[in-house]
This record gives sequence, structure tokens and C-alpha cells, in this order.
Amino acid sequence: MLTVRAYAKVNLTLEVLGKRADGYHQIASVMQTIDLSDELTFTISDEINLRCNVPALETDTNLALRAASLLKERTGYSGGVDIFLKKNIPVASGMGGGSSDAAATLKALGRLWELDLGNEELQPLASSLGSDVSFFLFGGTAIAEGRGEIVYELPPMPTVHLVLLAPPLEIPDKTATMYGRLTPEHFTKGEASLSLQHCLEDGKEPDAKLLFNVFEGVAFDLFPSLEVYRRAMLEAGADWVRLTGSGPALYTFVASRVEALALAEKLREGGYEPYVATTGG
Ligand code: ATP
Repeated sequence: MLTVRAYAKVNLTLEVLGKRADGYHQIASVMQTIDLSDELTFTISDEINLRCNVPALETDTNLALRAASLLKERTGYSGGVDIFLKKNIPVASGMGGGSSDAAATLKALGRLWELDLGNEELQPLASSLGSDVSFFLFGGTAIAEGRGEIVYELPPMPTVHLVLLAPPLEIPDKTATMYGRLTPEHFTKGEASLSLQHCLEDGKEPDAKLLFNVFEGVAFDLFPSLEVYRRAMLEAGADWVRLTGSGPALYTFVASRVEALALAEKLREGGYEPYVATTGG
């Protein structure tokens, strides 16, 4: 039996450079794992099965299950695995939970099934499961390019405390819908990601001015009440608020854990359900 954690991420930058002939968008994104995590337990078995504390996720499309099936198919491993997935990362929030579960499954089964595979061998499988899965093979601080599957590790960012809100706002086929709303005026050239990369390579904590997310240009139209959550964070004391991924989760940095807890408490008093986290994972 093997139990592992699958960490959530925030996008410190998320730029779209243009649309490719294959229909995907070309992106540049500095990503960072945080210590909010799902927990996955793997037990060797004859077949591949998944149970989850969120029954709606007990489907064939669950990314942890798909990762296990793909690994078995590609390696010819003869056995299976029982997976128990305990979700803590809010689903479809922009924090990458499903992709992280997939990457954690590839790595954990590589060990449990004694396949002796490194990130290099797992990367093609990761990228076929989803654009963000490759990033989660590494975690930490990294820059993602291509459609997100080309990942370069960056020096770890100095530890930062975060407060996050994951508004319970849903739109069908969220990521595709969000990309579909982008027009060439939203496209940038990757300068924001490059500036942040240089800052991190100099060992500095990123200034909020360096953070950027292209989807802020469309998210507030698509999720009409998102502004209520953003304003709640500002009124509770956040200096600034950024969107992560294609949303709708929002985050801010604060100076210390004490400040993070105080900000979270204010949000709770207002009826919100914030998450307190630190970078790492
Ligand atoms: P994306 O921007 O790629 O949609 P996200 O971070 O917003 O990612 P996830 O929590 O990864 O959202 O879930 C996206 C969708 O993937 C959900 O609608 C869910 O039905 C499906 N899904 C499949 N496997 C999982 C999983 N293990 N955890 C969460 N969602 C999963």
C-alpha cells in the first residue's frame, strides 16, 4: 500500500501567446504548487478500480483512473490497483486538482508496480492526459510553455503565505469555454512570464505587479458574481487579488501565517470558505 499527496497549484502568470493550427492555444505560465493537497492511497490488486470521497468523481473519466489505465496499457503491467482518492482541492476551480491526481498516480504506480520510470519516461503519458499534468510531475516552481506540457523547473520561490477563495460558480466545459472567449487582443508575448522568471532566478519574492492572468479579461463576464468574491477579499484586507488557471478560484499573498489566518477569519465571518496555504508541495 502506498499513500501520496497530490498538491494544488496557482498560476503566478498565465499568458496566451496565440492559437495554434491544432486548435490548442500556445501559453506561457509560471506555476507554483501549494500545500493544499488531495490524498491518494494505492493498493495492488488484479484490476484497476477507483473509489473517491466525492461520489460524482467515481467515473471512468477520473484522471487518476485514466492515468493508471494508461500506465498499465503502455507498460504491459499485468496487475492492477485499487485507488482511494480523498479530494481536498476544490474541483474545477483552476487549482489543477485533477491534473495533480493524474501526475501523482503515474509517479506512485511507477514505484508500486516497480516500473523504474523517471519523469522523462512519464512525461509523454502525462502530456497525453492533460496539458497541466506534466507540471505536476515536477511540482515546485516551474514555467510551462507549448500548450502547457513543456515544463522547465525554476529555482524554488521563497516561501509565501496565501489565502484562496474557490467560489462555487460553475460553467459547463469551463476551460474550453474560457479559451473560446479569448480574442487576439488578449494575446501577449510572454514578457510577464519572462520577467517573473528573471525575478525568481535572482532569488526574489515576486512583486504582485509581476503576476498576471489573461483569463481575468474574460472571467468576470463569464462568472458574473466573481466580482463579489474578489471584493470580499479586498475588503477583508487583501492588497490585491489574482485568478488562478481559468478560474474561478482567487488568491492573494500575505506577509505571514498570522496575517493569512486573520484574513481567512474575516472572510469566514462574511460567510465565505477560504483556504490558507503556503507555497511548497
Ligand atoms: P481545468 O482548468 O483543467 O478544468 P481545474 O483545476 O479547474 O482544471 P479540476 O479539479 O482538475 O479543475 O477538474 C476539472 C474537471 O475534471 C472536473 O470538472 C472533473 O469532472 C474532472 N475530473 C476528472 N478527474 C478528476 C479528479 N481526479 N479530480 C477533480 N476533477 C476531476
